[in-house]
Amino acid sequence: MGLPVLPRVVLTQSPFAVVVSCADARVNVERLFGQSFNSMFIVRIAGNVLGTECLGSVDYALKHLAESLKLVVVLGHSQCGVVTAAVDSYLTPHDFGEIAFTHPLRSLVDRMQIAVRISATTLQSQFGNDVSEHPNYRAADVEASGFMNAAVTSFDLAREVENLHIAGMKVV
Ligand SMILES: [Zn+2]
Repeated sequence: MGLPVLPRVVLTQSPFAVVVSCADARVNVERLFGQSFNSMFIVRIAGNVLGTECLGSVDYALKHLAESLKLVVVLGHSQCGVVTAAVDSYLTPHDFGEIAFTHPLRSLVDRMQIAVRISATTLQSQFGNDVSEHPNYRAADVEASGFMNAAVTSFDLAREVENLHIAGMKVV
């Protein structure tokens, strides 16, 4: 893996980026960006939603690894399972009762509702009130919601960086 094998030597963490990514097994963050160990501080959670623990992890990196950090990345992806569940529970809430009664699932889906609502409203304002009747509406809403979720999370993290008075840190 390229790790140095030296007795009693522990490398100092020196990532250049914090990445908030979905836990989806198809998303191989280091490979995607052509990086190896010690280059990215990766916080992974299904749906790349920004819960308290995730924000705590990002805050830790921003406060303790600021010397090497240059960038915060929120990485969404296509066909995300959590985004799909959030969109489906928004479009047809009666068919997704198990989400409402399953706390772990609900905690992920709930955090995504703002992005889902913004996407649905945007699609409606751009393509008319009957856009939801289109056969591809659900798929379009899932993709738009995944994008919007990453955008909303990026916005929140940009404010966090601002609150911590970290100059020159880019959030994308
Ligand atoms: Zn995902």
